[in-house]
Amino acid sequence: MTLHIPFDNSYALLPPQFYTRIDPKPVRTPRLLRFNTALADELGITPGPEAELTEVFSGNRIPDGAAPLAQAYAGHQFGGFNPGLGDGRANLLGEVVDINGHRCDIQLKGAGPTPYSRMGDGRAWMGPVLREYVVSEAMHALGVPTTRALAAVATGEPIYREQGALPGAVLTRVAASHIRVGTFQYFAARRDTDALRALCDHVLQRHYPQADGPDGLLREVAQRQAELVARWLSVGFIHGVMNTDNTTISGETIDYGPCAFLDAYHPQTVFSSIDSQGRYAYDNQINVITWNLAQFATSLLPLMPDQEAAVASFTETVHAVPGIAEAEWLRLFGAKIGLADPSEPDRILINDLLALMAEGRADFTNTFRNLARPEARDQFLDPARFDPWQIRWQARVAQEADWQARMDAANPAFIPRNHRIEQMITAAVADDLAPFHRLLDVLSRPYQDQPEACDLMRPPAPSEAVQQTYCGT
Ligand code: AMP
Ligand code: MG
Repeated sequence: MTLHIPFDNSYALLPPQFYTRIDPKPVRTPRLLRFNTALADELGITPGPEAELTEVFSGNRIPDGAAPLAQAYAGHQFGGFNPGLGDGRANLLGEVVDINGHRCDIQLKGAGPTPYSRMGDGRAWMGPVLREYVVSEAMHALGVPTTRALAAVATGEPIYREQGALPGAVLTRVAASHIRVGTFQYFAARRDTDALRALCDHVLQRHYPQADGPDGLLREVAQRQAELVARWLSVGFIHGVMNTDNTTISGETIDYGPCAFLDAYHPQTVFSSIDSQGRYAYDNQINVITWNLAQFATSLLPLMPDQEAAVASFTETVHAVPGIAEAEWLRLFGAKIGLADPSEPDRILINDLLALMAEGRADFTNTFRNLARPEARDQFLDPARFDPWQIRWQARVAQEADWQARMDAANPAFIPRNHRIEQMITAAVADDLAPFHRLLDVLSRPYQDQPEACDLMRPPAPSEAVQQTYCGT
């Protein structure tokens, strides 16, 4: 059997200002670290021998039917607009239509410099590649819309970062598309209305065939992104770099750079080393997605015939975003405490728990998972502070059928904890991939009790705790 990827490319047919055709840059001695056979099956890809997978997913060989390119885009980074970003280290090999009829991008990340690389080397080191592999696959298993990881290949070449020389790697990422808010901003900033219209038509046909024009597109993206952020909050996820170039039109989570999951709960938690203002803190994510969607609305305005009417209608759509996210938040957190149909008074009950958790430095994941078990109160610095809340909650949940099953399906036992990711990377750099494979295995069933993996449920000891995360560029 030889590797076969049934490419069916549509982005490459868009006008030339959308991208630069460029091949991945070959690497010295590629070595396959992992190939996601289950995902390959879903994508209709026939896997070939390891040597062939290694060649193709390192970028050393262009597979039949690929049309490699780097996409152009812009973006607001930490609030400042950069009109010219683009794929500085990514290469879109092409698209496939998966066995469910969904179109998917297949992209190499860390595949060498492009015209959009600016000062960068176009490469990635093994740490962020394995981190993205594990976290994106974990998010998928948690039920959060996300890009996926198809392959990771070590390049055999050193990458130079602040820490010194590090082993290079290439990640193969799969997404419904890599089109972002920043893709629209790129053409809006150039006043290229024809390109903007072509992009809008492409996106409507590809992601939202039921939507009507830019107005309908904005509403769809607003809905998906609001729901996505509510899902992040429900699993304790902090994206860390919610720039508009990292906000997808499909509503998938993208770009696992300085992201991290909460251990001890605190709403203002920030991990990213470059987020000194806390712009992308855990509890600011609904505000930020609303702001990002306002930028999306602005980029769509040139497509609207009546500007005044469009501003009014777009404003209404953007202003509805926090309400959509809060409603989804209530549904998700309601399920986390066992409620099928939570109402506004339940919001108070949930918020009171979160306030106690913040005060008591309770572990986010373990508190919710164990809420009905004696272990719950041990999560709090002062366990007695939890008891009155537990009595209130027991009275409320007693009115519900099947609450225990609902809670077990809403509260993961396993999340990719930061300190475990760091330990996994340290091992991988020393040529031990066992922790990487084990994490992936355990995190593929996050809602199942797995007694043999109870070490992966523990929060970090003070000496293990990760204080900061890095973009990984
Ligand atoms: P990110 O922070 O990963 O979303 O990247 C922001 C921008 O920087 C994008 O245009 C990336 O393509 C670019 N970039 C990040 N890392 C590199 C790198 N090592 N070489 C070239 N461009 C990069
Ligand atoms: Mg990015």
